[in-house]
Amino acid sequence: MVKGGKKLKNIKYSNYKVVIDSLRHHGNQTIKEIVADVGLSNTAIAKIIGNLTEKGIVKSVGKGTSTDEGGKRPMLFTINPDFCFCLVVLIRLDGIYGCIFDLSMKQRYMTVEKVSLESYDGCVNRTVGLIQKTLEEAGIREEQLCGIMIGFLGLVSFEKGTVVYPICSPEWGTDLPVCKDIRERLRLDIPVFVENSGRLAGYSELLNRTEAGMETIVCIGHDSREELSGAGGCVIVQGKLMQSKGNVGEFGHMTVDANDREPCRCGRCGCFESTTSVQRMLLKGREELALHPTSCLNDTGNEKLHSWHIFSAANEGDSFARELLEPVIKNFVIVINNIILAYDPDRISIFGAYSQAGPYFISEIRERVFRYFKNSETKIEYNQTDYQEMEKLGAALLVFNDYLGQDEIYS
Ligand SMILES: [Zn+2]
Repeated sequence: MVKGGKKLKNIKYSNYKVVIDSLRHHGNQTIKEIVADVGLSNTAIAKIIGNLTEKGIVKSVGKGTSTDEGGKRPMLFTINPDFCFCLVVLIRLDGIYGCIFDLSMKQRYMTVEKVSLESYDGCVNRTVGLIQKTLEEAGIREEQLCGIMIGFLGLVSFEKGTVVYPICSPEWGTDLPVCKDIRERLRLDIPVFVENSGRLAGYSELLNRTEAGMETIVCIGHDSREELSGAGGCVIVQGKLMQSKGNVGEFGHMTVDANDREPCRCGRCGCFESTTSVQRMLLKGREELALHPTSCLNDTGNEKLHSWHIFSAANEGDSFARELLEPVIKNFVIVINNIILAYDPDRISIFGAYSQAGPYFISEIRERVFRYFKNSETKIEYNQTDYQEMEKLGAALLVFNDYLGQDEIYS
């Protein structure tokens, strides 16, 4: 298997990538169907499929049901899932997750180690241990693996392979060389990457629609599992994730309320993340519920109040539930306005905790945003996929896309 970091220099190989993307979206396809999907000639697609099959990246899976002009049933092709694998490691507040994905983006194995990570060195050691354990238990050998992606909470430089600022454990220090430290201890000749959790989650958006590779997409959302419910996102321009020095897409720390006095995890006040956190909304709800005896949230009770109760009550017109959602909506509108001015995207995708909020929340946001951007064609939509699922899929996709971006694989 080819290893290294060279990017596609030969322009003809970019069509190979387009064909692989098409097969990833549609599963089994005939050459005619790929032609219709990607818009290249029949001869060009047949040649690409021939080469990809020879390399083992694509395989034939019998014949389709339709017949072509000669009355023959055409061959069906698909991505060969066993061609290569990637390992995704998610470092969370409650432990480390290790998952193996095959080239068709199916999760083949997952293990979790529930530990509290006390020091940076301890985190690196635990991660290396978990990587070795995952590979062993999943039965994946070094030569079958095309890359390892570490998903981290905090400010990350993908380019340098460092965690610039570990937002949940600031005492670990800054500019932590995660990729170098893990590679050295692993002693495997495999690329190791690190990327921010929210950016990885947002990147999975590319798996949802075939036209996504042509659009400018901005993803924004809240981690729906952690107690701290961090917010983040990413910017994707024509299929490429904007990574730069690590700040693009850190929408959680855009200032949305200069007068807010509650400090955010980043040390500043008035961030999108801190002012729209689910915890803050629930805290206010629990504190003030007794003052709103007519609200249907009283049926749930103070202790059991959860975000979905507020979402559903707001959708039914409950005024206290709508009041609780108001600061969240207001600050989403501010961030989205800024996003439109900065990127003019085709699509803004809201994922994570508030993607479950339903029609009231999103229609309020759309109404208030488009009041000012009258000729904007930006679509504002929910991506309701589970956050952790999104993060894993985005991580695997980023590793495979890096791997498939090398000339050596096709030549
Ligand atoms: Zn902040």
